[in-house]
Amino acid sequence: MKDLTINAAIDFDLPPIFKGRHLIDGVWIQSTETFDRISPSHGVVVSTSACGGKVEANAAIAAARRAFDAGIWSRLSGKARASVLLKIADLIEANVERIVVLETLESGKPISQSRGEVGGAADLWRYAASLARTSHGDSHNTLGEDMLGVVLKEPIGVVSIITPWNFPFWILSQKLPFALAAGCTVVVKPSEMTPSSTVMMGELLLEAGLPAGVCNIVLGYGDPVGSVMSSHDDVDMVTFTGSTGVGKLITQASSGTLKKVALELGGKNPQVIFPDADLESAADAVTFGVYFNVGQCCNSSSRIIVHEDIAESFVARVVALSKLVKFGDPLDPETQVGAIVTPEHNAKIDAYVQAAIAEGATLELGGGVMPVEGLGHQFYQPTIISGVRPDMAIAREEVFGPVLSVLTFRTLDEAIALTNDSEFGLSAGVWSENMHTCLEFARRAQAGTVWTNTWMDGYPELAFGGVKQSGQGREIGSYGYDEFLEVKSLVMRIGRSRAPWVQAST
Ligand code: NAD
Repeated sequence: MKDLTINAAIDFDLPPIFKGRHLIDGVWIQSTETFDRISPSHGVVVSTSACGGKVEANAAIAAARRAFDAGIWSRLSGKARASVLLKIADLIEANVERIVVLETLESGKPISQSRGEVGGAADLWRYAASLARTSHGDSHNTLGEDMLGVVLKEPIGVVSIITPWNFPFWILSQKLPFALAAGCTVVVKPSEMTPSSTVMMGELLLEAGLPAGVCNIVLGYGDPVGSVMSSHDDVDMVTFTGSTGVGKLITQASSGTLKKVALELGGKNPQVIFPDADLESAADAVTFGVYFNVGQCCNSSSRIIVHEDIAESFVARVVALSKLVKFGDPLDPETQVGAIVTPEHNAKIDAYVQAAIAEGATLELGGGVMPVEGLGHQFYQPTIISGVRPDMAIAREEVFGPVLSVLTFRTLDEAIALTNDSEFGLSAGVWSENMHTCLEFARRAQAGTVWTNTWMDGYPELAFGGVKQSGQGREIGSYGYDEFLEVKSLVMRIGRSRAPWVQAST
C-alpha cells in the first residue's frame, strides 16, 4: 500500500548464530538433537538450541527438588535472597543491548520495544527483591488468654515456569524473581520460537551467584518438555503464560497430582470510547493498543466499542494515525511495528480479515500481507475493519495481529454488555471525561485490569491477570508474590488454662 509508512531493511551486522543449551544443576548441557530459529523479519537462522526431551526435563526437576529440599535457597534469609535478585537486576541493565538484538531477531518485534521489555524487566527484579525482605505472615493475639496464633508463609516448593514467545524476557521476569524471592526453586521452559533471551538470563543468574539447581532451564517443545513439567510428581506448582488452549492442556496434565496451576492466557480486550472523551488521546491509545508488539500481545486492544455518534469520525482519526505508524525492519530504532512470528500465523491473521469482509464488514485500511523492501513478506498491513458484528469470529477470537475491529454502541449498558460478551476477561478500557461513566464501567467490566483514559500502563506493584478464560491467579504485585507461597497456621497454647478432655473419675 502506497500510503503507509514503511521502513525498508537497514544496514546491520547480524550477530553470529546463538547457541543455546540447557542449564541443569548449574551446568550447561547440550543435546544431540537441536532446533533452529529462523528470524521472522530477516529469514535467516539466528539461533540453534539444544532440543530437550523427557530426560532433560526429569533431570532439571530432580535438580530443582534437591536444591529446594536441601534449603540452600528456601531457608536463606529474605535479605540474602534479595541481594542476589538485586545483582541480577543490575546485570540485566548491563546486558540490555546484547539481549535485545537476539530478542528482536527471534520475535520480529521492533528493537525499541525489545529495549523497553528487557530494560524494564530489571524493575520487576528490584520490586521482587523488596518483597523478599518485607513480606510476612500474620499473628493473632486475640484468640484467648493462653493462645497465640501465627500464620506462616512458606515457599510452595518446586515451580515449573512455561513462557510464550511474544514477551519472553518480560514474562519470565513477571514470574521468576517472584518465585525466587519467595524461596522456591524452578524449572523454566521458554517458547521454542524465542529461547535465547532465557538462556542469556541463565548466564546472568550464574554470574549473580544464584546457587546451582535453584533455577534450571530446559529448551524444547511443549510436548514432551512442557508436559513433563506440568505432570511430574516432584513439581508443586506450574505457572504458565500462553494460549488458552494450551492452558487447558496444562490444567488437565496437572490434575493427576493436584498441583497448583497459575494461568495467564489470551484476551479480546475492548476500549470503549464515549463522545465526551479526549478523542485525540483516545485515538492515539487505540493506535498504540492495536499495533504494539505487532498486535501479538495478550493485552492488544483488538476491538474498540465506539459511540455511534462519533464512530465515523473516530475511525477516520485512527486510520489517519495508522498511516503514520512506522512499519518495517524491526532492527531500525524508528520502527514501531515489525514482523509476524511465523508464515502460518500471518496466514491465520489474513484468514480472520478475509472472513470478516466476506461476512459484510467494511475494510477501512490494510487487509493483506505486506512486503518490506530487503526483508520479504512476513509482515501484515495495519488493518482496520468497521461494521463488525459481535457474532463474527474477528470480534470474539484472539486474532493476534495488527488488526482492529470496530463495534458501536448507544448506551452505557450496551457498551458494558458488549465488553462482557466474551469468553475472555483480561483487560478493558474506557474513555470519557465523566468520572461517573468511567467508574461505573470499571466496576461492571469483567476483566482483570481496567484502564480509564489510558491503555496498557502497568507497574510491578499492581497485580496482573485475567478472569474467565483469560486465566487464573495473579502475577506481580504482592498478590503475584503470594501465589508462590503456602500458608501454614501455627496454633500455640502458651498458658495452662485448658480444661482436660478426659475428666478423672472421682
Ligand atoms: P502457546 O500456548 O502456543 O505456547 C506457550 C508455551 O507453552 C510455549 O513455551 C510452548 O512450547 C508451551 N507448550 C505448548 N504445548 C504445551 C503442552 N502441551 N504442555 C506444556 N507446555 C506447552 O502460546 P504462544 O503462541 O507462545 O503465545 C501466545 C499466546 O499467549 C496468546 O494466546 C497470548 O494471548 C498469550 N499470552 C498471554 C499473556 C498474559 O499475561 N495473559 C501474556 C503473553 C501471551
